[in-house]
Amino acid sequence: MLAEQTDILRGKLKEVFGYSQFRGNQEGIIRHILEGKNTFVIMPTGAGKSLCYQLPSLVADGLAVVISPLIALMKNQVDQMNAFGINAQYLNSTLTKTEINRVKKECLNGEIQLLYVAPESLTKPDNVDFLKKVDIAFVAVDEAHCISEWGHDFRPEYRRIKEIIAQIGQLPIIALTATATPKVQLDIQKNLNMENASVFKSSFNRTNLFYDVRQKKHAKKQVIEFLKKNKGKCGIVYCLSRKKVEEIAELLSVNGFNAVPYHAGLEPAVREKNQDDFLNENVDIVVATIAFGMGIDKPDVRFVIHYDVPKSLEGYYQETGRAGRDGLEGHCLMLYSHNDINKLEKFNKDKPVQERENSRVLLQEMSFYAESPVCRRKQLLHYFGEEFTVDNCGGCDNCVTPKDKFEGQEYVSLVLQAVQQTGERFGLNHIAHVLRGISNAHTQSYDHDKLDIFGKGDEEGEDFWKTVIRQTLIYEYLEKDIENIGVLKLSEKGKKFLKSPESVMLAKDHEYTVGEEEEEAE
Ligand code: ADP
Ligand code: ZN
Repeated sequence: MLAEQTDILRGKLKEVFGYSQFRGNQEGIIRHILEGKNTFVIMPTGAGKSLCYQLPSLVADGLAVVISPLIALMKNQVDQMNAFGINAQYLNSTLTKTEINRVKKECLNGEIQLLYVAPESLTKPDNVDFLKKVDIAFVAVDEAHCISEWGHDFRPEYRRIKEIIAQIGQLPIIALTATATPKVQLDIQKNLNMENASVFKSSFNRTNLFYDVRQKKHAKKQVIEFLKKNKGKCGIVYCLSRKKVEEIAELLSVNGFNAVPYHAGLEPAVREKNQDDFLNENVDIVVATIAFGMGIDKPDVRFVIHYDVPKSLEGYYQETGRAGRDGLEGHCLMLYSHNDINKLEKFNKDKPVQERENSRVLLQEMSFYAESPVCRRKQLLHYFGEEFTVDNCGGCDNCVTPKDKFEGQEYVSLVLQAVQQTGERFGLNHIAHVLRGISNAHTQSYDHDKLDIFGKGDEEGEDFWKTVIRQTLIYEYLEKDIENIGVLKLSEKGKKFLKSPESVMLAKDHEYTVGEEEEEAE
C-alpha cells in the first residue's frame, strides 16, 4: 500500500508539476495530511510549501480548501494551477455574483480540486452554509502566522478560522508558515486547536547568504560604494518610506546604475513594468518598500540591502531571503543606526497599547541583533528556535571579523544566579538592575535588594550586563518564557552550568556611535 502510494505521489509530482523529486519533508507532509492527520509545516520562504497542499488535493477524495490572506497570491496560484491543468478556483471579493455561483456549482459537482478562500469570505454565513455541503478532504491554512498577535503580520479574521472550520465539519488541517518563532508556533497550534499536530520544521539556515551589518554613517555613499563593487549584479535595496525609495532610485540612476523604484504609491502600470523589468533582467536594481517581494521568485538576486532598519527580524529574514534563491552567493547588507530604531518607535506611538508593546519588542530584537557581536546566523536561527553550534560560520561579518573575546564564565554564572534567585519571573532590565545593585521601586517592592546576588555585579555598567544577558540567552543557558513575553528562565543547559560551570567566551556589543549624522540631506 505504501509503495503504491509512493508511486502515485511521485507520478503526480512528475506528470503534473514536472519535478522529479520531492524537496525536504514534502513527501512525509503530504502522506501525513492524506492520512487525515493535522499537520503543521514550518519552512522558509521558497522551500516549497504550496506543493504540500496542492499535490494531495489531486489524490484525496474531495477538494482542498486553501485559506490565504492575499488576493494577489491567491490569483497567482490559481493561474499557475490552471496552467498545470488543475481545476483550482477562488472565492473572494473580486468575483461577481455570476462567477461566485459558477464556482460554487463546480465545487458541488466535484469538479474542483483546490478552492482558495480569503478569510473574510470564509466567515460569511452564506459561504459557511455552502461549504457544509461540499465534499472537503482537508483545509490548508497558508501564512498561518497571521493568526498570532506576536507575529509580524497579524490578521484578526484569521482568529475565526477555527470556529468556522468546526462548523463546516470534522476536517484535518494543514497549517503552513515561514515565520514561526516558538511563541508564534504555540499560538498557531492553540488557535487552530491542533496542539496534537505533527510538526514538520525545516532548517532556516540559508548557508549561501552572507549577513553583514554596518553602522549607517553616510548611507548614500555606503550604498554607492557597495554597488560599484558589485556592478552588473542584480539586487534589491529596501527603504522604509516611498519618499526614500524615490530619492534613492533617482540617486542611483544619476550615478549610472540601472535602477527603478517600486512602492505601493506608484501607478499600477508603472509598478508592474518596473517589476517585470527587474524579473526580465532589463534593470539590475529595484529600490523598494517592503511592498516588493511577496511571491516574487527571482533566483539570481545577488544582494539585498537594507537602507533602513526593518521592523522585525522576521521581516529582515524574509527580505534577505530573496537573495541567492539559486543557491549561489547572496550578500545581505544592513545599514544600522539607532536613530532608525527611535524613528520607528515614534511611528508606533498611535497604535493600541498591546500592538505598540508587541511592535516595541520586535524592534528591540532587531536592535539586539544589529548591535550584537555574536554570529548573525546563530542569532537568526536562535530566533526561529533552531540551534546552530558551528563556531565560525564564515558567512557573517561577526564571524569574519570577530570582536575580541573574554572569558565570561563568572559573568554568566552571576546572571544565572540572578535569574534563579528572583524566581524566573523577570526580564532583562530587571535582572541587570539586580546585578548592578540598583535600589529602585521595582527591586525594593520584590525585596530583591535583600537577595544574596543583589549588587554582585556592581563593577560593570548597564550596557555590559545587557549584552552578557543577551549572550547567555543566545548560548541557551537561559530561555524565554513562552507564555510571558520578556520573562527569562533557566534552560536545562543553564541548570547544568550552575552545578558545573564551564568556559564561555563572550564579546562586547558593537559600539555604534550615536550622533554621527547618517542622513546627509533629510
Ligand atoms: P514557499 O511557499 O515555501 O515560499 P513555493 O511553494 O512558492 O515556496 O515554492 C518555491 C518554488 O519551488 C516554486 O517555484 C516551486 O515551483 C518550486 N518547487 C516546489 N517543490 C519543488 C520540488 N519538489 N522540486 C522542484 N521545485 C519545487
Ligand atoms: Zn557567523
